[in-house]
Amino acid sequence: MPQRPSVPQCPGSKAVIVPDKPAISDASTPELEISILVIDDEPRARQSICELLSPLGHPTTQAASVAEAIHLLHTKKFTLALVDLNLPDGSGLDIMRHIHANQIHTRLIVISGNSTFEHAAQSLRNGACDFIRKPYLPQTLLKTIAKEITNARTQHRYTHIQDELKGSESLHRFIVNTSPDMIYMLDERGNFSFVNQRVRSLLGCVEESLIGKHYSAIVLPEDLEKAHHIFNNWRAAACPDNSVELRLLNHQNNEQRFVEARAIPVEITTTGVYTSIGTEQDAEFVGIYGVIRDITEHKRNEALLQHHEHHDYLTGLPNRALLHDRLKMAMAQARRANNLIGILFLDIDRFKIINDSLGHLAGDKILQQVTQRLSTNLREGDTLARISGNEFMLLLTNINEHGDASAVAQEIMDGCSTPIHYQGQEVLLTFSIGVAIYPEDGISKEELIHNAYLAKCYVKGNSRNSYSFYTQSFKNVGETDLEQESALRRALNNGEFELYYQPQVDILEHRVIGLEALIRWNHPQRGFLAPSAFIPLAEKSDLICKIGQWVLERACQDARHLEDNGIKGLKVAINISAQQLNNTNFKKQVLQTTSHYGLQQNYLEIEITENSIMQNMQKTVEILTDLANAGIGIAIDDFGTGYSSLSYLQTLPVSTLKIDRSFIRDLSSNQSTPPIITAILTLTAALKIKCIAEGVETDEQKTVLQLAGGKFIQGYLYCRPQAFTQLLSYLRQAKDGVLNHQDQLRST
Ligand code: C2E
Ligand code: CA
Ligand code: CA
Repeated sequence: MPQRPSVPQCPGSKAVIVPDKPAISDASTPELEISILVIDDEPRARQSICELLSPLGHPTTQAASVAEAIHLLHTKKFTLALVDLNLPDGSGLDIMRHIHANQIHTRLIVISGNSTFEHAAQSLRNGACDFIRKPYLPQTLLKTIAKEITNARTQHRYTHIQDELKGSESLHRFIVNTSPDMIYMLDERGNFSFVNQRVRSLLGCVEESLIGKHYSAIVLPEDLEKAHHIFNNWRAAACPDNSVELRLLNHQNNEQRFVEARAIPVEITTTGVYTSIGTEQDAEFVGIYGVIRDITEHKRNEALLQHHEHHDYLTGLPNRALLHDRLKMAMAQARRANNLIGILFLDIDRFKIINDSLGHLAGDKILQQVTQRLSTNLREGDTLARISGNEFMLLLTNINEHGDASAVAQEIMDGCSTPIHYQGQEVLLTFSIGVAIYPEDGISKEELIHNAYLAKCYVKGNSRNSYSFYTQSFKNVGETDLEQESALRRALNNGEFELYYQPQVDILEHRVIGLEALIRWNHPQRGFLAPSAFIPLAEKSDLICKIGQWVLERACQDARHLEDNGIKGLKVAINISAQQLNNTNFKKQVLQTTSHYGLQQNYLEIEITENSIMQNMQKTVEILTDLANAGIGIAIDDFGTGYSSLSYLQTLPVSTLKIDRSFIRDLSSNQSTPPIITAILTLTAALKIKCIAEGVETDEQKTVLQLAGGKFIQGYLYCRPQAFTQLLSYLRQAKDGVLNHQDQLRST
């Protein structure tokens, strides 16, 4: 014999003991008011009964006929009626029949002189409670009446309790049926013994159709295991979690369910029910009851939240996080299948202009259209993600060769030729696309994405509206540098550089003696950029040599032009970076270019800083000596700021020293000339080297310099750097290079 389980006592359990008998309380029953109707045609008989009853304190009423009695019974409630059988208009039996037929709750005692058995039996059959024969002893009547009053009171209490019970039951039924949750009860075999009306809207069936059916009839097969587990645990009194989520079968097709069409997600609370005759150890499992709550809405919100966590709110596309997940999966797959993966980093060119000119709302709408367009040709398994404002990423899974990725990139670019329409306006958008291929361009997702990004930066800086694969040369270059570097390359190819010229003036003779060529970048978006904005970057790569080559070429060309325009004898100085000096072709390039333009060598001067010289002293001295021997001037730029070893002045054929602007800035007529200026001037005079003071802006500075023996200056006081055409007209004014004092020209 298996042992009976005891009622579980663990915390959270809601096991209940069903009571064997309900305890009914009559404490609240109102007192029954007793009133007595005395029916007799004999006035004295009626009177004597009333007098006999008066000590009891119950009101009495008298009736002399059947008609009068019936009338009174209809107008008033009587607890008790004492009826004589012989009445003038009929028999007491007629009253009894009437009472019965009309369901009047008055107890009847027959008092009759006809004391045969027949009479008594007839009376009792017709509903009389008792029969008293006349003449009677007063005690007999009083005893009978007292007994019937007790009976009436018991009946009254019983009826009251019945009414109360009926009331509370319907109240409970109401509560149960209007509950927003389904309330159920299963018997010990798991069959439904009760369900409330909520089952109609939840499962689309009536209560009766479920009664007697096993719970497995409504649980989704996938979740049956879970349901069995809970049920069996209650049966074994193992006290399971009393709340669990599972899915019920959805039999109705009228509602579009978000989570899964055939399933209704619910939360079920379960409570084991046990009876107990004696101790808890005797408890017997009789089933479980509980509540089933529809959590579709909750699940929908949960799913929505999850969706938002992984998708971009504006376009609905996967976001960066989801892309990372998919990429991770794709990489694992590609490893197994020995396939390639392509990552396309897409950046909408000049999207800021759209936002700035049409507004952010327009920008958002256009982004949505772009998304639609990009999504149309997606292959199954590919992922398009939006990862920031105007940046998208396209993950191409299972590609076989680079060509597959470039075909997609080309397709995207081709699609760009069709304009996007926004409020009657046509917007043409292009993309800069960087492509990285797994595994060759990276074996981690971060590396792959970064390399696609670098390739994109390269395209963005270069031509835009184009795509590029990642190459090793992008490695170790910062993305902005890479972007700018490729922008610089584009600038070279597109002729975005210009040379400005700043005259160098002999202040004693008031004559222009030379020009310094200063580069400017006419950037398509950012306007004119000073060298400090790009030369330092160019110096990080071989770009500075290419730019330097361009400067040399252009400066020579312009010098030729000046000659051709009758402006002769002006030395053109160009700035040379240290890397250029290290370039083995440098010397050759300089000599070839000057001779190509038919320039006399002494019309060119190269400006070089002390620091550059020091970088590779021996080689630099060699190159510069060769150049100097060929007639090319050598100027030491920013003199006094760098590595001031004067020894090189002995070995190097220097033609000019340029005093750095920082020494000139603070020159004032109120103070004595700084010793460094005096020293440089003395030194250059001794070495027969020309000395040019840079950055002279005021007459005061010029005067101080002049008094100290300075002869040559370059600065805003005379002329700001000029574009070549402006320079030409400036020089033409200065006839034969001689300036008059209004010739001070300002420019940007
Ligand atoms: P730098 O060789 O010392 O050139 C003189 C700089 O001082 C120029 O600035 C010029 O515009 C500025 N300047 C001239 N007079 C005055 C003045 O009176 N007041 C003030 N405040 N500034 C004055 P810029 O053109 O911006 O050039 C800056 C530097 O960029 C140059 O300094 C030079 O080191 C470099 N650079 C310019 N062009 C080239 C080039 O073609 N190649 C190379 N490698 N470097 C260049
Ligand atoms: Ca210079
Ligand atoms: Ca300088």
